[in-house]
Amino acid sequence: MKIAILSQDASLYSTQRLKEAGEARGHDMRVVNYLRCYMNITSHKPTVMYQGKPLENFDAIIPRIGASKTFYGTAVVRQFEVMGVFTANESQAISRSRDKLRCLQILSREGIGLPVTGFAHSTQDIDGLIDIVGGTPLVIKLLEGAQGIGVVLAETHQAAKSVIEAFRDLDANILVQEFIKEAEGMDIRCFVIDNKVVASMKRQGAPGEFRSNLHRGGTAEPMKLTPEERSTAVRAAKAMGLRVAGVDLLRSNHGPVVMEVNSSPGLEGIEQSTRVDVAGKIIEYLEKNAANGKIRDSAS
Ligand code: ADP
Ligand code: GLU
Repeated sequence: MKIAILSQDASLYSTQRLKEAGEARGHDMRVVNYLRCYMNITSHKPTVMYQGKPLENFDAIIPRIGASKTFYGTAVVRQFEVMGVFTANESQAISRSRDKLRCLQILSREGIGLPVTGFAHSTQDIDGLIDIVGGTPLVIKLLEGAQGIGVVLAETHQAAKSVIEAFRDLDANILVQEFIKEAEGMDIRCFVIDNKVVASMKRQGAPGEFRSNLHRGGTAEPMKLTPEERSTAVRAAKAMGLRVAGVDLLRSNHGPVVMEVNSSPGLEGIEQSTRVDVAGKIIEYLEKNAANGKIRDSAS
């Protein structure tokens, strides 16, 4: 097969591993910087142009779209979809997962466990918002945040109020969430491909840090999931319409809760901690599906 990895940087671990894994299985792999793609949007022969030439005859693409480049990145993915190319994740599912609030709303509709979450526009009802999540301590999150930046723990009512006011003054969209104290700075990353968890790890925040992000100094170890955690992760990926997803769970007193569903989950932490060839499993998934002419899961 001829497969394009849509990535801004060919030297990233995940990009390199996908390229290697595809080549090891005999595929023609190309890393395409989607920010340098330009498109011909015509009903006769839609194309994606790159370095002066059309990208033609691809069987599949693997989108690795950066969080800050979602708009342009998903437009490029959509253009490949219009051309009938199979994608590891559809443009619509990627856009959906990028909005934390939309993501939680979709998961709640499916009855998937979530931290109790409040959202408001006005700062006039801050007390009501704090009440929704059961008071302090609580977590305040910037909707546009990533890698743990913009996630704040407020221990007291007064602190919560000031932080919410400050963010709202900057016109930032925030959500307020029940603090899952019992998680003790640990979260679980489940790597889901094609409705199966192929690898899972726990991430533990640095001492005194409630955020477990590896970028914030957290450490990763392989972890065996309970059947409930496994099914929660699979249901969450499915609800988002993602074929490849990183689902982040917390262990709460009321069962596993989903914090986030990531459409371009990193491979480095999960492969190195679990020794699972996750890149190879993504390629295997494309082998099974791209050739069958299966293009879209959903309309529009
Ligand atoms: P980001 O997308 O920026 O990584 P997350 O929402 O995943 O933001 O939060 C970062 C980390 O903070 C999580 O991995 C988790 O360890 C911790 N965290 C987030 N929300 C909560 C919460 N409601 N209760 C306890 N810990 C949380
Ligand atoms: N960027 C990687 C991901 O989305 C790693 C994030 C982290 O764990 O800090 O999975």
